[in-house]
This record gives sequence, C-alpha cells and structure tokens, in this order.
Amino acid sequence: MIEISSKDTLYMYNLYHITKAFFPNTEIRQQVDEGQEPLVRLKLEGGSCFSIEEGEIKEFTDRQDGKRFVTKKVYDWLSQKTGRTLAWGMLTGVRPTKLVMQQIEAGMDREEIIKFLNKEYGVSDGKALLGWEIAQREKALLEQLDYVDGYSLYVGIPFCPSICSYCSFSSSPLEKWKDRMDSYLDALCREITAIGKAASGKKLNTIYIGGGTPTTLEAHQLERLLGTIDAVFSYENLKEFTVEAGRPDSITREKLEVISRYPVTRISINPQTMQQKTLDAVRRLHTVQDVKDVFQLARSLGFDNINMDLIAGLPGEDALDMQDTLRQIEELGPDSLTVHALAIKRAAKFGQEHKEIDLHSEIEQMVSDSADAADRMDLVPYYLYRQKNIAGNFENVGYAKVDKAGIYNILIMEEKQTILAAGAGASTKIVLPEKIQMANGKKTNLVRIENVKDITEYIGRIDEMIERKGEWLWR
Ligand code: SF4
Repeated sequence: MIEISSKDTLYMYNLYHITKAFFPNTEIRQQVDEGQEPLVRLKLEGGSCFSIEEGEIKEFTDRQDGKRFVTKKVYDWLSQKTGRTLAWGMLTGVRPTKLVMQQIEAGMDREEIIKFLNKEYGVSDGKALLGWEIAQREKALLEQLDYVDGYSLYVGIPFCPSICSYCSFSSSPLEKWKDRMDSYLDALCREITAIGKAASGKKLNTIYIGGGTPTTLEAHQLERLLGTIDAVFSYENLKEFTVEAGRPDSITREKLEVISRYPVTRISINPQTMQQKTLDAVRRLHTVQDVKDVFQLARSLGFDNINMDLIAGLPGEDALDMQDTLRQIEELGPDSLTVHALAIKRAAKFGQEHKEIDLHSEIEQMVSDSADAADRMDLVPYYLYRQKNIAGNFENVGYAKVDKAGIYNILIMEEKQTILAAGAGASTKIVLPEKIQMANGKKTNLVRIENVKDITEYIGRIDEMIERKGEWLWR
C-alpha cells in the first residue's frame, strides 16, 4: 500500500492521480491532517519516503502555483524512483488541450508551447505536439461559432439494447423500459420545447442526440423526437446535427430513413471492436457482420459523415486483435473515428483469464496503431480527452476527415459555449459572460445544471427540471 498525507486537501487530487499513474495496481491510502508536519508526505511500498515542507511553498502567493510546484516535485521524485516518465507528465486533468488553447490565446507559438509543456509539466515532445496540433484544429472549428449568442443542444436517450459490461454511462436496458418509452418522450419533448422557447432569438450552432442509444427509439418515436426539434428550433445558424445512432443492433433501414428526412449531418455507428468473441464477451447483441451491413446501408441512404467508435483494451484483446479490427474499419472507410482507451482498472476487472498480457504496453501499441490507421484513412486528430483513474497516460482521440470533425465533441471539452441539455441525466452547462460567485464561494463563469438520472424521477419531476434551467438562461 502507498500512503499519501497532507495538511491541505488542495494537493490531494493531483498527488493521488500522479501516484496512481505510476502505480496503477497498488492501493493508495490518502489522509488529510491539518496538524501534520511536513506539508506533504508520500510513502511507497517498501518504505521509500518523500516529503515537502511548508516553507518550500511560502514564496507562492497564488495557491494554484503552489499546487503546481508540489505536484511537480512529487512527479519528479516518482519519476526518478521508478525510472519512468509519463507521456503527459504531471498533467492530471482530462482536457490537456484546454491548457494548450490558453497558451495559444496568450500568443505563444508552437515551439514556445512545446517547451512550456515540457518544462512546466513534464509533457513529452510527442504529446505536446499532438496537443498543439489538436488545439489548432479546435480553434479553427470553434472560430466559426458565436460564444455569446450561440449555443448547442444535447438530447439524451438513456436506453440501450443491452448493457455492455464495461459501460460507465447510466444507461438502462430497453427491455425494461419498452412500455414507458412514450412517457419518457412526452417529458423529453416538453423539456426540448421549453428550451427552444427560452433560447428563441439565440443562435443554435450544434445539435447532438446521444445516450445511451438514440436508435433504441422506434422509427415513429424518432420521427416524433426529430419533428419536435424541427418545430421548435431555427436551423439558420446550425453547423452540425449529430445523431449518435450507436449500437448496430438498434439501427434499421426505417430508422435511418426517418433520420435522413431531417437536416442531420452526422451519425455514429459504433462497433467498439470487430472481434466477435469480444462483442459476445461484453454482452453486445450484434455481430461484426451487422456493423458492416448497417454501415453499408447508411452509405447507400446517402449518409456522408459517419463516425465509428473503437475501444482499445477490451477484455481479452491484444494488439493483434486491434490491428485486425483496424484493418476491417479501414475497409469500411468511416469519415471519423474515435478511439477510446478503456480504463485499465475496468479492463482488469474482467480478468484476463485466458491470456496473460501486459495491458499497459498492449494498449499503448493499440493507441499507436489506431493513430497510424487513422492516418492511412486521411483522418487527422481533432479532439482529445483523457480519462480519470486510468493507469499510465492514455488518451481518447477523435480523428476525422478535414471537413467532417464533430464540433460538439470539441465544445464539450473546451466549455466555451453554452450547452442546453434535455433528458434524464443530461447536464446543462451555461457559460456566463463573466465570473460570478457561487453559493460555495467559488468564482466561475460555468454553471452546471444536472437533470436527475433516474428515468422515473425525470418523468415525474420534469417541471422542476425545466424550471431549474430557466433561472440561469442568459442572465
Ligand atoms: S451501447 Fe454504449 S451507452 Fe449503451 S450500454 Fe453499451 S457502452 Fe453503455
């Protein structure tokens, strides 16, 4: 067991995540004790100790600078102890490109940013360059948007044909909710209509229907949902309209035909893997052939911007499986590809009973092979985020043809524009023109309003969900 203790909670989050990245399989005990000396103490298994005295941070008037100093010292010590560096260095946040974007906006050029990330955070040259490249693309895409008067709409459909064993979303099995889908839609359409009214006069830039699996809705229910959106919002300023169809076992010709009657610009058909044994193992109820059939069907119906999602590190898979999956994806030729690295903790939970593989290096290989495959398909990286609680330094990367990037995906990461969200568990993010003081004393210009996750509660408390948002809309 590793022990981390500190006088101040301020340091704990970073110290925990940095230490976890170096020692993914070791339990870590954390303790905050205001009376302890020194300021921070870290004790590894085997007894090696490191500490930082309070006097060392005295010169920092800004607590955040002090936090960075402490994190860097611990990172350097762990790095020296293990003989390893982390590709993203001491960056623990899920949005490294946000930091790069700030530097670009402050006028720094490519070389300065790479140097800065390297020196201040220990980020490798390769990752710093990737971060810079992606931030440049994000910037170009976001410049088309209006942050003050523009906004995006998210609509959540929290049902799936079955629940994949690695799923971290709060999705519910369709079977259980089939009879109440219409009640859910009643509530959802009311919320969408209320949002539309509150936002009239503002510019709707992107729409994203996600979940869950939106195509668990029957064709007539999809028609109702898309018809409601169509009746309530103006598309005059719309840059993108995504329906994350998702699971191939929920997609039919009829549903795709409904979608194609609306100004939907982008859909997702997500295989996660093209290995049948894995699909079966993670309880996805479709075949590899289903993925191919549905993809070809969507192409034949004219969908010219199709995204596919893959996961690196699914249970039982090694780099060769991923290479085979990528080969099959290349044959299909999607317009964008999102590659997620499965949290190792989760992958490990499945137990690699049949194969003793070094997950860390296999995932690293899979991530790198994915980048090569994307390159062969002329897809460039355009957004990136990292997961919390994962071992090492893996990141999720979205690749797309130059004009087929998913703008909403960037907006979610960069938090520069208001996203109004409807549906159970949906999270509205209001970006205010300036910072205000919240009830907890924190100053922020980003207000989050979460809808309840429980579907029955959402339906029952829909008026409250609508009213809670009203108070914040464009104050
Ligand atoms: S399809 Fe996606 S949202 Fe649905 S259960 Fe599987 S991982 Fe979760």
